[in-house]
Amino acid sequence: MSLPELPPAALRLDVDRDALAANWRTLDALSGQAAAGAAVKANAYGLGVPVVVPVLRDAGCRSFFVAHWREVAAVAEHVPASAISVLHGPLTAADAAYAKALGVKPVINSVPQARLWLDAGGGRCHLMVDTGMNRLGLPMAELGDDTIARLEIDVLLSHLASADEDVALNEVQRGRWEEARRAVAHRRASLANSAGIALGAAYHGDLTRPGLALYGGIPRAELSDRLAQVARPMAAILQVREVAAGDTLGYNATFTAPAPMRVGTIALGYADGYLRCWSGKGIMLSQGRRLPVLGRVSMDMTIIDLSAAPDLREGDWVEAEYEPVAAAAQSGLSQYELFTLLGARFGR
Ligand SMILES: *Cc1c(COP(=O)(O)O)cnc(C)c1O
Repeated sequence: MSLPELPPAALRLDVDRDALAANWRTLDALSGQAAAGAAVKANAYGLGVPVVVPVLRDAGCRSFFVAHWREVAAVAEHVPASAISVLHGPLTAADAAYAKALGVKPVINSVPQARLWLDAGGGRCHLMVDTGMNRLGLPMAELGDDTIARLEIDVLLSHLASADEDVALNEVQRGRWEEARRAVAHRRASLANSAGIALGAAYHGDLTRPGLALYGGIPRAELSDRLAQVARPMAAILQVREVAAGDTLGYNATFTAPAPMRVGTIALGYADGYLRCWSGKGIMLSQGRRLPVLGRVSMDMTIIDLSAAPDLREGDWVEAEYEPVAAAAQSGLSQYELFTLLGARFGR
């Protein structure tokens, strides 16, 4: 049976491609001698691999990082497999065989992962060294391991735990990363995520790995004037109604109209990542006018105040105010969560 064409989505994520490309170029320039890659894990932080990866590729990006093996295929539709690295590394022989078959580079995080890779035939790979985060990566004490010595390492990586803060741990980690560079043969070295880029040339090595800042997130104040907002969640108005003074709105009647007012119900809810923390707090925008969220955010819908926009009708669109720094402060969510929450129902 052939299905009719899908009707347009009532929810879409507008991705500003020019802003995305400009952010990458800015981060590449700020990376000095190093080239900027891109973290595109978690569906490019929720913005959508099919939109984001071609833009970054065309801007000049040549290294793409995902976390899971299952994330490789979508990225490989747009860039050569050899440009893709898988941060989690091979957990099973099937992972290593998949990497070999496709030509994707695994990030080796441990001696057992190095063995899996060598058993699958080996070849160029990356090595993640844990310099103080104690999350994923080869412990410093194992740098001299015989199995590690047999790897053909392209990029020697480490990851900063607190690059968004000015703390002693940054220099401790950088020192250990330098030590690892002296201990293990490799072609290139990489340490900095978005925030790490702002820590200066000593943190850049040969390759940086921004994620958040590409998408308009601001992990450190130094970057705030240099990056543009990329993602704008947009929702259609499903219904408009006039309510009387004393009427209550939404689940658990948490909002009572103080006067007659015109309200709209939009096709955006917590199942889309617009969490209940925005209840009575979020703002929708229409031509510069601010339309506050009234009452509780529901699973698929949110009610907003249309007093400031009397012209808006069913089928019109509003934009969720989602400037990352302000939105994080207001919602209590991290900028990372704000992006990665944006759900599958958004047209991208
Ligand atoms: C996610 C990730 C990045 C990107 O970090 P941002 O803070 O988003 O720039 C870089 N490196 C590794 C290992 C990561 O897991």
